[in-house]
Amino acid sequence: MGFFSFTQEIAIDLGTANSIIVYNDQIVVDEPSVVALDKRTDRLIAVGERARQMQGKENESIRTIRPLRDGVIADFYAAEMMIRGLIKMIPSKNRFFTPSLKMVVGIPSGSTEVEMRAVRDSSEHAGGREIYMIYEPMAAALGIGIDVEAPDGCMVVDIGGGTTDIAVISLGGTVVSSSIKMAGDKFDEAIVRYMRKKHNIMIGERSAEELKISIGTVFPRPQEVYMDVRGRNLVSGLPKTITVSSSELMEALEEPVSTIVEAVHSVLERTPPELAADISDRGIVMTGGGSLVYGLDKLLQQKTGINVLIADDAVSCVAVGTGKTLDNLDLLKGNTLSDGINYSY
Ligand code: ADP
Ligand code: MG
Repeated sequence: MGFFSFTQEIAIDLGTANSIIVYNDQIVVDEPSVVALDKRTDRLIAVGERARQMQGKENESIRTIRPLRDGVIADFYAAEMMIRGLIKMIPSKNRFFTPSLKMVVGIPSGSTEVEMRAVRDSSEHAGGREIYMIYEPMAAALGIGIDVEAPDGCMVVDIGGGTTDIAVISLGGTVVSSSIKMAGDKFDEAIVRYMRKKHNIMIGERSAEELKISIGTVFPRPQEVYMDVRGRNLVSGLPKTITVSSSELMEALEEPVSTIVEAVHSVLERTPPELAADISDRGIVMTGGGSLVYGLDKLLQQKTGINVLIADDAVSCVAVGTGKTLDNLDLLKGNTLSDGINYSY
């Protein structure tokens, strides 16, 4: 990619919760997937963290939107605005005004044709001339540094905000996979429901997420931890602060987490024996922000009897892996979906 090149290449991990742009093997943008728009004109007011801070505090002229829901684009226009805004956030030393922007975008493994088209259209409208797509678990495996072309099976479980993507990869392709709409957002919702039912208190999703990140638990902790949370008492209608324990969160998270464990089980059941043996030897690798809930690795290990490791850069390895494909688009034709054409599935 020389100075005089007219094509610039970027990789985007368009996540339900966070979007990351990789340029020249560097993470140059890493922001929450949120936009703030002017209600009357639909003009873009803010993207990323700045928009996120406006969430729940909108007024009559501003609305905030998360363009992705359950791993897929739910609001086209907002998605396009977000991609545009994120590209503009690439630091000025890398800033480029180029007639030709090549983009690789990570998509959940269960994406339908319609969902892929939505990603492609939004990316094109945001300025992409050549759009490629890669399944996120494959990108995660590349990001971790797994030799995906080797004849050894590996299993990646990517737990994001909207979807959990589970895939068994061997010889450069996906052998068995599953994508379920059960991940970090649903953990937050389960916590909101639990607080309402058990304590008669309504808390916001942001507070639920803070509880999850700070004291969320899915496997017994050596020591109980506590956190205060503020909400609205549903009886009196007044603000109220309560102290929540980690074992309460374990109760709240039990159901959503067991759905993920079951999905991993069912992928293992569908895995050919030789590859299953490889996975037993090498362990299951977890990625994505959702994998960081305390004890999820231990729980999955207990329930499957297979070693479970959390990737070092759990939150960024899909983006890093997506970036790696830029150098190697041809080699990865089998897994990179160009222009909506599905090469090997
Ligand atoms: P996506 O790829 O869908 O954008 P991410 O991989 O960025 O998702 O993960 C986002 C999810 O991870 C959110 O639900 C967020 O609350 C959760 N998360 C991030 N960090 C932690 C943590 N330390 N503990 C528990 N959950 C976390
Ligand atoms: Mg992701």
